[in-house]
Amino acid sequence: MADTAYLDWPFFEERHSALARELDAWAAQHIAQEAARDVDAACRALVKQLGKAGWLRHAIGGSAYGAVGDTIDTRSICLIRETLARHAGLADFAFAMQGLGSGAITLFGSAANRAAYLPRVAQGDAIAAFALSEPDAGSDVGAMACTARRDGDEYILDGEKTWISNGGIADFYVVFARTGEAPGSRGISAFIVDADTAGLDIAERIELIAPHPLARLRFSDCRVPASNMLGEAGQGFKVAMATLDVFRTSVAAAALGFARRAFDEALERASGRKMFGKTLADFQLTQAKLAQMATGIDAASLLTYRAAWLRDQGRKVTKEAAMAKLTATETAQQVIDAAVQLFGGLGVVSEQPVERLYREIRALRIYEGASEVQQLIIARELLAGLAPAKP
Ligand SMILES: Cc1cc2nc3c(=O)[nH]c(=O)nc-3n(C[C@H](O)[C@H](O)[C@H](O)COP(=O)(O)OP(=O)(O)OC[C@H]3O[C@@H](n4cnc5c(N)ncnc54)[C@H](O)[C@@H]3O)c2cc1C
Repeated sequence: MADTAYLDWPFFEERHSALARELDAWAAQHIAQEAARDVDAACRALVKQLGKAGWLRHAIGGSAYGAVGDTIDTRSICLIRETLARHAGLADFAFAMQGLGSGAITLFGSAANRAAYLPRVAQGDAIAAFALSEPDAGSDVGAMACTARRDGDEYILDGEKTWISNGGIADFYVVFARTGEAPGSRGISAFIVDADTAGLDIAERIELIAPHPLARLRFSDCRVPASNMLGEAGQGFKVAMATLDVFRTSVAAAALGFARRAFDEALERASGRKMFGKTLADFQLTQAKLAQMATGIDAASLLTYRAAWLRDQGRKVTKEAAMAKLTATETAQQVIDAAVQLFGGLGVVSEQPVERLYREIRALRIYEGASEVQQLIIARELLAGLAPAKP
């Protein structure tokens, strides 16, 4: 593990720093660094591996279902994502999706739903996915068109979802669909849909700059039992946002992991690279760059673990999670770009760590709410606290 001074920050308890150190040692030994030829197979194997080693027990809540604790511990999730991201983006992805894909079950599932899905998620026996976005409803969730209409003891889903991580390899999807209790985001409900349900098809697999399983899903006359609804009818938006409040902060943590890895690589390279009779690190221009990278990482880290700590105290973190995600992903992009620059030509050679990180970081500024959406969330929270202006 590189610089671990942040583990002594007051946001953490003893168990958190122990967890980060133990995982770091495990990942160094077990996680492959090279790019996977078959990304689906690699992802499946990683889920199994993370499950077998017990790390996925942190991705769910409820000790009766195999979780470490009764509630999801945001700081643990963040430290795990940061540590895995430092080792390999796909390992972080495999862990994160088990959490995001089952988060709504932990938070809103009936006892029967939790018993049926959470133990398998924690053991790595079932792969989870979260299906909110649609071709015409990404940032604007309220524009969702996928519908679910009640028919006796079932709901019938029709429509499309896209950009669905684990699409094509998931064993079940948490799907958000319009049930029509009210217009816009208030008429949405959440359902668990098993991947082998008739009427659910993978319409398209999507290739990414940093490969991971991703697909567009089609629902046609897809029947799910009404008991698979998560939370109340019409509360799907609340279910989605509560899930994202946990995992949005963890996207910030993953960005931090990528940034820390890039910084470590850059520091090592700058200290060893000979030029003009000195080393690259001897030049003040390099030192300014390194100082800016390290300061950005610490600032992003403070915001990330503040949000995680606050959530673990049971506080509302909508604004703080948005600040963390915005700052950490944007900072990580800058840090990684600076690292590529410090590597010169080597920085753009395929599968060099900094080249890989350069591709890995990009999507984090877009998914789970693009940076612009985070800015709007922060502003909305700030303005909501003000008294209305007098006419
Ligand atoms: C790699 C990857 C994995 C994903 N995984 C999942 C998943 O598992 N499940 C899921 O449901 N979704 C997933 N998504 C979808 C993701 O959440 C959406 O891509 C994201 O919400 C943006 O929606 P969009 O792509 O439709 O872009 P649009 O909504 O068309 O937005 C385009 C751009 O417009 C800008 N913008 C947005 N709103 C505003 C505004 N109000 N003012 C000014 N500018 C604005 C932003 O820069 C944004 O990037 C994933 C996406 C990617 C890229």
